[in-house]
Amino acid sequence: MNVLVINAGSSSLKYQLLDVDTREVYAKGNCERIGIEGSFIGHEENGSGKQKLEVALPDHKTAIDHVFEILENVPQKVDGIGHRVVQGGWYFPESAIVDEDVLAKVREVAPLAPLHNYAEADVVEICRNKFPELGNVIVPDTAFHYNMPEYAWRYALPRDVCDKLHIRKYGAHGTSHRYIWRATKQFLGDDVHKLVSLHLGSGASLCAIEDGRCKDTTMGLTPLDGLIMGTRCGTVDPATVFFLSREGGYSIDEIDTMMNKQSGLLAVSAKSNDSRDIEDGAAEGDEKCQMALDMFYYRTAQLTAEMVCSMEGVDTMVFTAGIGENSDVMRQGVMDRLAWLGIKIDPAKNAVRSDEPRVISTDDSAIKVLVVPTNEEYMIALDVAELLSK
Ligand code: ADP
Repeated sequence: MNVLVINAGSSSLKYQLLDVDTREVYAKGNCERIGIEGSFIGHEENGSGKQKLEVALPDHKTAIDHVFEILENVPQKVDGIGHRVVQGGWYFPESAIVDEDVLAKVREVAPLAPLHNYAEADVVEICRNKFPELGNVIVPDTAFHYNMPEYAWRYALPRDVCDKLHIRKYGAHGTSHRYIWRATKQFLGDDVHKLVSLHLGSGASLCAIEDGRCKDTTMGLTPLDGLIMGTRCGTVDPATVFFLSREGGYSIDEIDTMMNKQSGLLAVSAKSNDSRDIEDGAAEGDEKCQMALDMFYYRTAQLTAEMVCSMEGVDTMVFTAGIGENSDVMRQGVMDRLAWLGIKIDPAKNAVRSDEPRVISTDDSAIKVLVVPTNEEYMIALDVAELLSK
């Protein structure tokens, strides 16, 4: 079955056409700067190089029209469409075939992720209208976390306020964490029961997964919580918000921008939000870059231990996403701070670069540590195939 996976953002739309059975990717690309001057589509198909198509993309509908026009030249036909949805809110414990009700719910929970959900719902609607014969499936990034224990997702705020505004821990990166469980299980066999998934990209979160079920995760009501990220501060004392407002005179929108876009590794290093630049800076003796690394290692190790606590044990830890898959320095830095758990990293294995799952811990390490490249598109396509073939 060939599935078109669509990942719509407020000003971008990524797509990938892949075969669920062979995992072959026939075409993929990204419509960038939708609604902004200078829009273009970066497209790649059947192993050929990247093309840059400069086209006007005033809205998502035009972007989708272009994507389907491009895909007409690809011999493989689309059998179903999968849509990544950032926020499933209080409705979706799993992926769902789209109907009017599902679409209305994606819009109803949109205030929890306004930059994403509205655009995603619009794109789902455009696809349904354009190809009524094709099934559409939504795959919410929060679904995997939906059934974590109540003591993990509930906030100690007044119940009536939480109930009215649907305030709770929703988490994110659920599709990636679910894929990591699946791929690690396939790779290691029955040896894995209690796994910490470390999704470290420009956005970063951890997930405690016990026998395939999420026990806790580090992102909260929104993806601002938890780890220090490229430009996000992660967990800080919530009173920092009142203090910035009352004493600093910042508006709520300014604080929102500060915490989401001007903080994290970028703020501490005063150099870059990209871990590669920060590693280079630290190697050249830049103290702020070194502090950014030290804080990243410390917080990531600390929250990893929190995930271990939520499972009352651990046998496997898996690094994934941009930093997790590519930076041996960051992996070593985090794991060094967890050596007290009996973790031993093999430097030679850690230095290997590969697109395949691999173990980087020593044979006598108390916990297996792996690198497993994530593949959210494939996970989404699997859900589409499963739901549409029912
Ligand atoms: P997201 O999907 O959240 O935008 P990614 O998972 O693509 O993020 O991670 C991107 C980040 O990974 C970069 O900002 C960079 O800090 C880090 N990174 C480190 N090494 C590499 C590498 N070799 N290639 C790509 N990203 C890398």
